[in-house]
Amino acid sequence: MNFIHGNGPRKDVCANCGVKMDLITKEEAANLYSNDVANARLNLVSRRWAPFFWIIVLWNAWFFFIKDVQIWNWVVFGALLIITLILPVLFLISTATYTAKMEKITPEFKRPDGH
Ligand SMILES: [Zn+2]
Repeated sequence: MNFIHGNGPRKDVCANCGVKMDLITKEEAANLYSNDVANARLNLVSRRWAPFFWIIVLWNAWFFFIKDVQIWNWVVFGALLIITLILPVLFLISTATYTAKMEKITPEFKRPDGH
């Protein structure tokens, strides 16, 4: 949880409520409001899920265009099948890398004492 720093009314207030209550500026709550952070996160998320989008496109291409092409239909079918089976495994394996990258683009935040 992203708490803001300070005593009195600022104590135990999260960054989101801090901005709403005018205790901090949006610049100070970079984790929530920075466009750079948002873009970097969107970039990471889309790169993580893009292969699933492409595999669906390729299966459609196979079904509509390649299915009736003799010999090649089975070659492409085999390749697609292997990719489809490997994809979830790679997805699971890359979870740690993905989490680390996401952690890396999250702005540094020092947890106040007592949290
Ligand atoms: Zn809050």
